[in-house]
Amino acid sequence: MKNLIFIGPPGAGKGTQAQRLTGRLGVPQVSTGDMLRAARKAGTELGRKADEFMSKGALVPDEVVIGLVQERIALADASHGFVLDGFPRTVPQAESLDRMLAKAGKKIDDVVLLEVPDELIVERITGRRVGETSGRIYHLKYDPPPSPDRGEGGERLLLRADDREDVVRQRLADYAALTAPLVAWYAGKGLLRRVDGVGALDDVTAALFRAIGVN
Ligand code: AMP
Repeated sequence: MKNLIFIGPPGAGKGTQAQRLTGRLGVPQVSTGDMLRAARKAGTELGRKADEFMSKGALVPDEVVIGLVQERIALADASHGFVLDGFPRTVPQAESLDRMLAKAGKKIDDVVLLEVPDELIVERITGRRVGETSGRIYHLKYDPPPSPDRGEGGERLLLRADDREDVVRQRLADYAALTAPLVAWYAGKGLLRRVDGVGALDDVTAALFRAIGVN
């Protein structure tokens, strides 16, 4: 039973590594980015509201994502643990998370910080492609699909609107201003585990598992 948080700049590989970890632990990956994209695709009111922010690379208002996470971690499949990917993203979100977990008699076990230097981030994000039907994440250089515009089984590959370079720069500025303060916040609680996010995917996964005592 482990409740984990992933923190790191956009493009650090949080989604990919969280996917590997949840597979290993058998707990759900709770990605606010994925939930917001699903709401946007379904055309719900929440999805339309979120899109106004997401398409500009801006953060969605705290109360919107807090509500989503609260509902998600109350579901039965999260009762034996979860991996939060992309949440909390601000100190107010972290405070809300603390309150909702305390009420449910739960706590966070580890906060993983995936560290990647800024100069690698832009290259990483702008090379990222997502399978149209499977949602599988590829990278043109680091995890190449069968062809630049087709994934496994021939599905079309897409560049997320928020992975464009101008949008990436806005997201990096937001990370430094709003999310980086969470590092000190969680270090102060003794929960922070730093993982070097540079290098081959399998090496990063191995370092991640070591950092949180999973083998
Ligand atoms: P991600 O897939 O985690 O990079 O998230 C994609 C976009 O969704 C972000 O650029 C934000 O617009 C929005 N988003 C995801 N998680 C959060 C969050 N915790 N707080 C605010 N906005 C978020």
